[in-house]
Amino acid sequence: MRINSTFSRVLVVCATLVLTVGACGGKDADTSSGSASSSTSAGSEAPEVKDVTIDGDLDNPVNELAAKAISDLQNYWAAEYPDLYGEAYRPVEGGFYGVIPSSGKLPPCAGSADDIAGNAYYCPSKDVIAWDAEGLLPNLRERFGDFVVPIVLAHEWGHAIQARSNFEGLTVTSEIQADCFAGVWAAHAIDDGGYDVNAAELDSALAGFLVLRDEPGTDSESENAHGSGFDRVNAFQNGFDDGATECKAYKDGTPAVVELPFNNAADAASGGNAPYDQIINGVPYDWRTTGRSCFRNFSRRPGPP
Ligand SMILES: [Zn+2]
Repeated sequence: MRINSTFSRVLVVCATLVLTVGACGGKDADTSSGSASSSTSAGSEAPEVKDVTIDGDLDNPVNELAAKAISDLQNYWAAEYPDLYGEAYRPVEGGFYGVIPSSGKLPPCAGSADDIAGNAYYCPSKDVIAWDAEGLLPNLRERFGDFVVPIVLAHEWGHAIQARSNFEGLTVTSEIQADCFAGVWAAHAIDDGGYDVNAAELDSALAGFLVLRDEPGTDSESENAHGSGFDRVNAFQNGFDDGATECKAYKDGTPAVVELPFNNAADAASGGNAPYDQIINGVPYDWRTTGRSCFRNFSRRPGPP
């Protein structure tokens, strides 16, 4: 199943989103809480992970969705990773944490509740994946549907793949590669992973996923850059349509990202938004043709303003 018309519509949806959160950071901290497990089904080819233990309340719907996704992600990458990197896949073993930030209990690698509130991350030093099961994921699920939860986890899994493959690159490169890997998994999940997701539901989940994009004006070489909405959809689609080999080839500058710092104070003050009449007079009749020619000539590093 391929949903080719999905992505252009997603871009329109995402232009209205403004919330951003950081991801993938923090310091070590102890944690303790109850656990629950879930038995889930996965793709038929891969060796099956029968039980996924989540540190968190499985009565919380996002944790239940997470348990199913984690089971499938472990199995999917156990089958895919050896073909891609020529070595056995090491399952993510540090733990999975559906965190209630207001409880005061912190997952590994979180130094404070602020590190996990509104966030989801993979922590390589502990091989841990954690998510905000109180704010971020319930809110995303409510607004964008169930499939946004596995997509967020598939992105974090992309970082776990990077840790195993010793990927090195700018933050923005690692982020869009993780998006690409998320797209690879999403295609599998819809095709043969047991996820019944239609085009509208995938649209919606991607729109929610892009809530995590950088604000306009973020320099792609900044330590915290995660990719613009355009970069992220492009990378997700790349993985979704073309598979993991495409993602593996990502390196700094390839693919080019369109994320640029603001050129001047006026640009920054407007948030990168052009005045209305400038937009109306400046929009080309055939945006697609113009866009293609622009991107062909695009250089990731801008010259001085
Ligand atoms: Zn990330």
